[in-house]
Amino acid sequence: MYDLGIASLSLSALSLFAGFKSHDENSSKERMRKEKASGKLGIALVGLGGYASGQLAPALTETSNCFLAGIVTGTPEKAEKWKKQYGIPESNIYDYKSFDQIKNNPDIDIIYVVLPNSMHAEYVIRAAEAGKHVICEKPMAITVDECDKMIAACKKADRKLGVGYRLHHDPYHLEMMRLGQQKIHGNIKTMSAGFAFNAQKGIWRLDKTMAGGGPLMDLGIYCVQAFCYVTGQSPISVTAQEGQKTDPERFATVEQSLTWQFEMPGGIKAEGFTSYADSRNTLKVEAERGVYELAPAFNYNGIRGNGPEGKFSFPAVNQQARQMDDFALSLIHKRPVRLPGEMGRRDVVYLQAIYQAMRSGQKVLIR
Ligand code: NDP
Repeated sequence: MYDLGIASLSLSALSLFAGFKSHDENSSKERMRKEKASGKLGIALVGLGGYASGQLAPALTETSNCFLAGIVTGTPEKAEKWKKQYGIPESNIYDYKSFDQIKNNPDIDIIYVVLPNSMHAEYVIRAAEAGKHVICEKPMAITVDECDKMIAACKKADRKLGVGYRLHHDPYHLEMMRLGQQKIHGNIKTMSAGFAFNAQKGIWRLDKTMAGGGPLMDLGIYCVQAFCYVTGQSPISVTAQEGQKTDPERFATVEQSLTWQFEMPGGIKAEGFTSYADSRNTLKVEAERGVYELAPAFNYNGIRGNGPEGKFSFPAVNQQARQMDDFALSLIHKRPVRLPGEMGRRDVVYLQAIYQAMRSGQKVLIR
């Protein structure tokens, strides 16, 4: 679904092809045994759609602290293909009905929920009740109430909950955080960010019941995140304007595009833009002594950036491999999760405030 860099997609397709092995049941069981014996934690991916198959599963062939141990899918053909491709034993393959049986599976330590947004809450809660740690894709859920229930379920089961915010592991974004939070070029005055692509009809992303909203839930959330991690601050208030619906049929239940303005501490103004019928991929910061920016900003790789001292240059990394390894390490070393459920909840509060401002036409205070 996402087209976040042709180079990234063709590279992962190539590496998948080059690394393709057809495993049988015995070799798959042997693989599990060896991975576990090496101290890695087993991850089960739930929902084998575009992101799980295009990014997360290939990333799990590059991780050092975790590995692909299981899958949960409603599509038997995918189960058959993944079983052979990734060496997953029959006993580690589940569907949505048998999901809760994962509790009896010692190969699986972490459940990674990669389902449509409206399904996140149910599967995170069931994962915690099955005694597993959980990573949940963004947005964490479609309501704040759901986030509260997810956090409570993980607390009750004494399991960790993390959100799949991959950009916290990207060196270009880490540099933006350093420049912003340490005020390397002085106080920030204004920020702007835009993330937009064209979403075709007939997918759950255009269905408010399944997605919780439109491009704001899916893409605008990256801009919201960036405003917070570059400044190290939280927004105080928001105003927002829905864009014109040029395709009311396609956007019958969700916004086509949306612009919003955050007021942040220190008088910082941050303007975000998101759309499912446009193209945008930028993050720009104006500080007292210069401008620093990323464009493209939110890709899986191929991010570019520059600041007052010239172009940024960082090595290519696998964001998803780093993100999953970091979560696994927080379990292994019993340290707090870097991108916890509380952060996912905080962002759902901001997304809801943006919608409230859009609907009311009023400035909304964020608490
Ligand atoms: P897809 O539509 O490509 O895949 C979703 C998968 O969920 C389906 O393939 C299916 O897998 C399963 N599913 C179960 N029930 C349903 C249902 N009723 N309708 C549709 N799918 C269903 O979505 P993505 O992979 O693009 O997105 C999944 C999640 O990941 C979303 O929350 C999204 O926001 C997030 N995401 C995050 C990205 C990031 O960069 N962090 C990038 C892309 C997405 P199966 O057939 O196996 O049951």
